Amino acid sequence: MKNQLISIVLPVFNEEAGIQATIDTLLNYIEQQEESYELIFVDDGSKDKSVAIINQAIAQHSNIKLVEFSRNFGHQLAITAGLEYTKGDAVVVMDADLQDPPEVIPQMIEKWHEGYEIVYGKRMQRDGETFFKKFTAKMFYRTFRKLATIDMPLDTGDFRLMDRKAVNQLMKLHEQDPFVRGQVTWIGFRQTSVKYHRQERIAGETKYPLSKMVKLALDGITSFSMKPLQVVNIFSILPLASGVFSLGYLIVTSNYSLASVGVTILLFTLGLLMLSIGILGSYLGRVLDQVNNRPRYIVSKTEGFEARNKGIHD
Ligand code: UDP
Ligand code: MG
Repeated sequence: MKNQLISIVLPVFNEEAGIQATIDTLLNYIEQQEESYELIFVDDGSKDKSVAIINQAIAQHSNIKLVEFSRNFGHQLAITAGLEYTKGDAVVVMDADLQDPPEVIPQMIEKWHEGYEIVYGKRMQRDGETFFKKFTAKMFYRTFRKLATIDMPLDTGDFRLMDRKAVNQLMKLHEQDPFVRGQVTWIGFRQTSVKYHRQERIAGETKYPLSKMVKLALDGITSFSMKPLQVVNIFSILPLASGVFSLGYLIVTSNYSLASVGVTILLFTLGLLMLSIGILGSYLGRVLDQVNNRPRYIVSKTEGFEARNKGIHD
């Protein structure tokens, strides 16, 4: 629809290899649409030429903007920060590597016009990603569904369209380490999906090594499920029961050559104990982060925003 503004938020971390192609593709896409668009790049502490390339584009196009972090704060916080700078009637979040095809956006807009405040992209096929990544992602979404208190749709990433109303609510959540796709489910509203074929990265490598994937999964689980803590309680029954049983066995049989049984029980108990402490630690770390109450990210600079708005959130 004419007179509607769509903001696209694109987190960027060391994307110099493909960012120009992303900008060109998006500008070309925008030209063919009747809505107005703004592109908000959030540079998440890139150490390469990403920022310079985006700045060149800003010099030529008034609808391109840049929010620069003072260092790498992570993909989820880059999305979170980007939302704060959007003005659109709807906001689309997508990767800066063209894995999320812009041609899907009109389908999202159509659903939005039908009255859905949130339209997420559901990946039907994922190209150019390792078996390991696809397998672990699949397992994660299925485990998450079993554990979590929210009904998060399977196989969705952060590619989605959100109505201004939903974005405003999302911005009220102040989690230190946000799991954005969980938060979006949590806020509710009318939600639907459009299916899409996730493309191969246009250039460069994934910026999500295993360590970041594990962190994302743990943030998701610890922010939306208490079940692991309940499991810890159940764990304690096992060593307790086996302890009582072996004591009873000793008394009844007077068989004191049970060293091996004892060692087994000891090791087992120790294992459970350490696992339990680990699980508690993950939650405690999250609590500590929240209690510390540091700013979640630091914006060092913004480019392309109108003067009166410039730095408003700094
Ligand atoms: N990204 C980011 N900060 C990070 C890691 C990634 O802003 O610490 C950006 C990255 O540039 C990309 C998006 O987040 O635009 C998703 O990352 P990536 O494409 O590497 O993940 P994948 O698609 O492989 O899961
Ligand atoms: Mg990607």
